[in-house]
Amino acid sequence: MVQENHSKKTLKLQVMDNRMIFIAILCQFASNAYGKHGDVQSHLGEWAYDYYTGPEYWFYVHPLCNGTRQSPVNILENEVVYNDSLTPLVLLNYSMVLNNASYYLLNNGHTVMMGIQTNSSLPIGLLWKGRKYNYYGLHFHWGENDTIGCEHTLSNQSHPLEVHIIHYLSEYGNFTNALNYGDGLLVWGNIFQIDNTIDESKSPLQELFSKIDRVTLADNKTFINPIPLNSFVADNSTDSYYHYEGSLTAPECTESVMWIVNQKKMKVTSNQMKNFRLLKGHLHNATDFVELESLKNTFRPTQPLFGRKVYTSVQLMNGSSYNSTNFFNKTREIDNSTSFSTGSAINTTFGLLLLCFLFLLFF
Ligand SMILES: [Zn+2]
Repeated sequence: MVQENHSKKTLKLQVMDNRMIFIAILCQFASNAYGKHGDVQSHLGEWAYDYYTGPEYWFYVHPLCNGTRQSPVNILENEVVYNDSLTPLVLLNYSMVLNNASYYLLNNGHTVMMGIQTNSSLPIGLLWKGRKYNYYGLHFHWGENDTIGCEHTLSNQSHPLEVHIIHYLSEYGNFTNALNYGDGLLVWGNIFQIDNTIDESKSPLQELFSKIDRVTLADNKTFINPIPLNSFVADNSTDSYYHYEGSLTAPECTESVMWIVNQKKMKVTSNQMKNFRLLKGHLHNATDFVELESLKNTFRPTQPLFGRKVYTSVQLMNGSSYNSTNFFNKTREIDNSTSFSTGSAINTTFGLLLLCFLFLLFF
């Protein structure tokens, strides 16, 4: 009897030992995850598309990124709402090349942007719903291969490249002041699809694509031949777009953007895409060493709509071009990435800590 009790006690101790080891592993994992967030604190003001300062951590130091009006979003083309107040965009001097102006490319450490240095008083921008928006600048988002890269996805479908043409509402005076208003900015997103049959030498953007390798490192800048803004927009596309209210897609993630996403796509070749992937960003702490960020995936995952509607300027035919099987498979993938992008790391951490606590409480 005594021997039997002793055996039971030994067995119980062994089970306890195993439980303790399991709890210890869980707690270690949880504390490691928490430690990563602690690292974010030592990178105040920094952000990237990778490492511990990637999109899922932005909100630790840029709290607006955890808002309910964030961008980009997935646009389900069979759920958009037709809105007849979405009149065509009226372009102001988009086809002009400014005299005595210097056009340049700049690697700002996060993306490549095209800037214009000019003293010209010629207004460039657009009119939308009776209001005037001044052109501010443009930049690109891309991915490590031709199947990903754009920020807005269309019915869960991604594309390799998206250009954002940024404007601010003229009546707010300047870009910085416009950030204080929910309607301060208008960003026109234009998505590119691969077409390897186009003649690159006749592409209006070849001047830009061919010179991106001159700005490989962060803060590199190179002057280019002038490119009119309408080169970044599909022909005859000012009347067909999606619209929703969102945010900047990078920190500070300010919720001041009236988004216009063009329904007509631009074309780019696989060859033209290659130079984007050569770019490098700033120095970042990887696991235990410092390295230059590789700008291979410069896009933020899609964000939840939180009840927002996406509108269309033209009535679309019911039944889009995707097939239903692919649609549901892709929906699942996108849902995963979306949920991970908004604080899933912290959920995992505290979930594990809660599990530790429950184990200690009941065993
Ligand atoms: Zn952008």
